[in-house]
Parts: sequence; C-alpha cells; structure tokens
Amino acid sequence: MLSSADLDFDRRHIWHPYTSVIDPLPVYPVARTEGVYIELSDGRKLVDGMSSWWCAQHGYNHPELLAAAHKQLDTMPHIMFGGITHEPAVRLCQSLKTMLPENLDCIFLADSGSVAVEVSLKMALQYWHARGEARSKFLTVERGYHGDTFGAMSVCDPVNSMHNLYRRFLPEHIFVPAPQSRFNGEWQPNDITAFQTALSQHRNDIAAVILEPVVQGAGGMRVYHPEYLRQVRALCDEYGVLLILDEIATGFGRTGKLFACEHAAIQPDIMCIGKALTGGMMTLSATAATRHVAETVCGGEAGVFMHGPTFMGNPLACAVAEANMQILKRNEWQAQVVAIEAHFQTALTPLAVHENVADVRIIGAVGVVETRRPVNMAAMQQFFVQQGVWIRPFGRLVYLMPPYIIRPHELQRLTDAVNAAVQKTELFQ
Ligand SMILES: *Cc1c(COP(=O)(O)O)cnc(C)c1O
Repeated sequence: MLSSADLDFDRRHIWHPYTSVIDPLPVYPVARTEGVYIELSDGRKLVDGMSSWWCAQHGYNHPELLAAAHKQLDTMPHIMFGGITHEPAVRLCQSLKTMLPENLDCIFLADSGSVAVEVSLKMALQYWHARGEARSKFLTVERGYHGDTFGAMSVCDPVNSMHNLYRRFLPEHIFVPAPQSRFNGEWQPNDITAFQTALSQHRNDIAAVILEPVVQGAGGMRVYHPEYLRQVRALCDEYGVLLILDEIATGFGRTGKLFACEHAAIQPDIMCIGKALTGGMMTLSATAATRHVAETVCGGEAGVFMHGPTFMGNPLACAVAEANMQILKRNEWQAQVVAIEAHFQTALTPLAVHENVADVRIIGAVGVVETRRPVNMAAMQQFFVQQGVWIRPFGRLVYLMPPYIIRPHELQRLTDAVNAAVQKTELFQ
C-alpha cells in the first residue's frame, strides 16, 4: 500500500508519460486489476474504458494469459535469441502467419511498438540500399503517430510531436495533409491528390510510405475512408515504393476487422504490430515483411538485417502472446466488438449536436468524442474517477476503447460518464 510519503516520492522522482517533474498532474494509485475493473488502493473499483492504451483487449488478469505466463515463468523466462530458438517464439510466429495478411512471410520480434516501427524503417532503407538506390525519405500524412523514438517520431505529425524541439537531429521526411474523407462518409476523389503529387515528385527519393490504416490514433483519433488506403496501395505499386502499415493500435480486432487494412482489402509490404499482441500483459512487438522484402534486404551488402534487440523473442512475452492468439482464434472478439460499436452508436452519436462537442467518431470498439475546447485534464480525470470509470482524455479528445469482454451495464457506465462530462463546462479549459 502506498503511503502519502510514497506518493510524494513519486511526484518528486518518477516521470510519468508526457508529464512535468515540476508540476505533475495527479496520479491514482492502483492496487489490482480484474476483468474490466481497475481497483484503486482506496478500494474504489473503476470500469476500464482504455484497455491500458489499446492493449488489454480481453480485460485484465485473463486466466489463460496468466496460466501461460506462470507456466513459461517456471520453465524459461528468458533466453537470448541469437543462435537459439524456442517453442514460444515458433508457436507465436506460426499463429501470426495464419492471422496476418498472407503475403507477409518473415517476422521480426522486438520489444515495443516504437522499436517495431524503427525496424520497419530500417528494413525499407536496407531494401533500397541492396537494390543500389539511394532512397532515404519516407512519405506519410499529417496527424499520424508512430512512436516516440527518433525514427518513429520523424514520421509522426510534426506539430503534435514537436519536431522543432529536435531540429537538426531529426531526419526530415515528406508530409501531406491527413485524409479528410470520413470512414462512413462519401469518398472525396481529390482527397488523394496531395499524396499522389508528393509521391510523383519525390518518386526517386522515397523508400516507403508509412501510415496507420483507417484509424489515426494518438495523433488525433481520426477515422478515415478506406478508399484512401486502396489508392495509396495502388499508387505505391505504380511508383514502385514500399508500403508500411502501422497496425500497432488497430491490430487484433479493435476496429472490427482483425487488421484495419482489411477494411480496404489491401496488404502492406511491411506491417508493424504491438500493443494488444500480448493481450496487455507485457511489452512485445513484431514487424512482418514479404518474402521479397526480406530476401532483398538480406541479399544486400550487409547480408543480414542489421537489428537484434537484447530481449528479442522473449519467451515469457511470446508464450503470453501465443495464448492471446488462441483466444483471438476462437473469434469471440467479433461479436463483442460489434456489440460495443452498436452501443457507441446509440449512446455517443447523439452527443454530436451538443454545444460542447465538435464531432463524434466511432469504429469497432473505439468511440471518440471530440470537444470544442480542450479538457481540463486534472478536473475531468477526477470527475471520471468519481463516476467510477477510468477514462483518460487528452487535448480535445474524450475517447473510449474498452476491453472486448465488457458487459452492457459496464459499457453504459462508461458512456453515461462521457455524456455527463461533456455537459459540464467547468471540466473544460
Ligand atoms: C502506441 C503506438 C506506437 C508506439 O508503441 P510503443 O509500444 O508505445 O513504443 C506506434 N504506432 C502506433 C500506431 C501506436 O499506437
């Protein structure tokens, strides 16, 4: 149990995500988790609306994931992957091969989403190097998010990720405006024009296009028309440029398809996955490539792909991820996500006309209420905790992405809380 002295220690000495050590926002001590509940150390139980940032898709402490972890922990928690292989990694990759787009043939295991993105960028660079072409640029859209390491950050939205802070160190890539056509709206044919122009202008410099398919997550929770992706795929083929899809947030059912690229019926040349890969139990990510990309990379000067994380293929994480794949293969997630989406349509769509609300966006088990004014983080967070829910807004976004196992009355508590919060002017800046 954390004392108030411990919490003072936390305030003084421990950085939380995107926070100040001078004036940190309050943090809520959590004692345990179970299913869709987060229990604070004062005993209050909150319904989880965040899945710990896209991860805990089947809820916390899932018995099958716990069992896989316990079993692996007693046998072999970790072993180096250089010159060694093991059942958890092989079983996981066998499962992934049946679940990923079928053209993706070679899998690189890494330890976080950002690293998976770095790996994808390095694969694209090595691919062109091996082909004797000096291509060093990536083409992407504004409002994207791909992680916080330098390579990943260089393809994040330049404003949101404050590229000016790292100028002269950060590589400069090519950005076009984010897609405007809405997911369920009408496709506006000129939406692709800027992308096509940039691709044709820089065709000999661009190593790859990198995008989050259909849902732009941390860069603004935007949901765009799958036709954009279809045309991106066609243009990449036409101009001979690789396509990297970052499915780290969207992967494993969150948008109603196992992978969001299925909304557009396309396949990337390289795909990044992470977040829900272990069902939220621990960190693990992967980058999958076509055999053509993989063999070209390895046929180049280095003769290998130049990356090898210390904890690559960590058996504990792989065993849990494989147990998670077994849960996903039972396909219960599909009906669960459909039910969550239907509830969001009923409960959140009407908020769109409220004076404090700018927009409501829903796809699969993701519900987003964009407000007109930025939220007062500390005040709104406290309000949600008082309502018995865990919802973490940011900027002008109040959004829900609950564990798929959430039941109707729990979901109702989340949407009731969002409904109540947007009415309260004092919760906004
Ligand atoms: C979260 C996220 C990442 C980064 O993953 P980390 O595990 O936080 O490094 C990359 N891309 C997308 C789309 C993400 O949502």
